[in-house]
Amino acid sequence: MQPETFDVLVVGAGPAGSCAARTAALGRARVLLVEKRRQVGLPVQCAEYVPWQLAHQVPIPPRCIAQTIRQMRTVLPDGTTVDKPAGGMVLGRALWDKHLAVLAHQAGAELRTEWTATAYDGREVLLRHGPREARIRAQVIVGADGPHSTVAGWVGQSQSEFVHGVEVEVVLPELRDQTEIYFAPLYRGGYGWLFPKGETANVGVAVNVRMGGQPGPALDHLLDRLGLSRAAVVGTLGGAVPVGGPVAEPRAGEILLVGDAAGLAHPVTGAGIAPAVLSGQMAGEAAAQAVAGQDLAALERYPLEWEARMGAPLRQAVANRRHLDAHWTDDPAALSERIRETWIAFPAYGRRKSNTEAPRG
Ligand SMILES: Cc1cc2nc3c(=O)[nH]c(=O)nc-3n(C[C@H](O)[C@H](O)[C@H](O)COP(=O)(O)OP(=O)(O)OC[C@H]3O[C@@H](n4cnc5c(N)ncnc54)[C@H](O)[C@@H]3O)c2cc1C
Repeated sequence: MQPETFDVLVVGAGPAGSCAARTAALGRARVLLVEKRRQVGLPVQCAEYVPWQLAHQVPIPPRCIAQTIRQMRTVLPDGTTVDKPAGGMVLGRALWDKHLAVLAHQAGAELRTEWTATAYDGREVLLRHGPREARIRAQVIVGADGPHSTVAGWVGQSQSEFVHGVEVEVVLPELRDQTEIYFAPLYRGGYGWLFPKGETANVGVAVNVRMGGQPGPALDHLLDRLGLSRAAVVGTLGGAVPVGGPVAEPRAGEILLVGDAAGLAHPVTGAGIAPAVLSGQMAGEAAAQAVAGQDLAALERYPLEWEARMGAPLRQAVANRRHLDAHWTDDPAALSERIRETWIAFPAYGRRKSNTEAPRG
């Protein structure tokens, strides 16, 4: 079997991969974007909230916005409620993820769904589609294959710290216009949320299983607390969010890691869509430049750029999350105090000294 050749191979067509593929293709690289799922964007594994600012970074057509949001409400275990302006939107990610893949194709990238990247021998990537195989030779490989990234495994950058989320889409008795965040001792190492999307809402809980968290009972608790019935559930989903912070080596030779594969989801909030878009675009640009100049050294701008834009805030968030995990308690008053020190809605959030190392760039 002869290998096929491309300038850039992007593995995974989530927001990070589609943005990387589009940007590299716009930079005149020959790009192949492979996705193991049958349909890009499905099943959704997300609560779908993004801040308004993301619309300045990447196209978000109105048809991909389920609802606009004006503020975030945080409810602590002791009952304290804090409201903070947080303008944004709850997306319809199935539609939006597909839209980003469409944009990548329109920019010139070739798409292949139902193809899984399975192995790399340092020269060729092996793709599988049922019994069929293909071998791909590319100058640059972008690993955009999510939290349990195969590509990250090829370069020794697999992640081990996760929270596990379970979420239902539930019919709302009345419309709501804010995101709501709920803490409780039972939601160990995590929190619950209600993100409205018109007549329904994404209601979920993410917990740290290593701390004894159990997603199912935590979600039952949250639904009871909100007075929402299981009989109003129209869909259920789940997934893992990496919360250990950025991987040590986002670039290894010709391989760049982006989005969740690079550990770029926010370790406190779990928000990973915006960093996926941003890192995908930065990696796509670096890849196109390296290909155009026939010089892989151009890839080095990728780790340097994301470190400059995201490194310090992510390390701050790692420090806060570890502090909260280490001081988790079943006492509602004491837990509320720790959350005031570590959650984004409170002024103390930025005061904790981050002592995690900067990744090598
Ligand atoms: C329950 C839950 C709620 C969340 N809520 C929010 C939220 O409200 N806001 C927010 O900003 N973030 C949220 N996140 C995080 C967000 O979903 C991710 O950070 C984001 O999707 C990361 O994008 P990505 O492109 O890096 O990875 P993904 O979206 O995971 O895309 C990776 C793609 O790679 C494909 N793939 C994997 N392996 C291979 C392979 N070997 N070959 C080919 N294809 C492969 C996968 O099928 C997938 O399509 C949530 C996550 C969870 C689990």
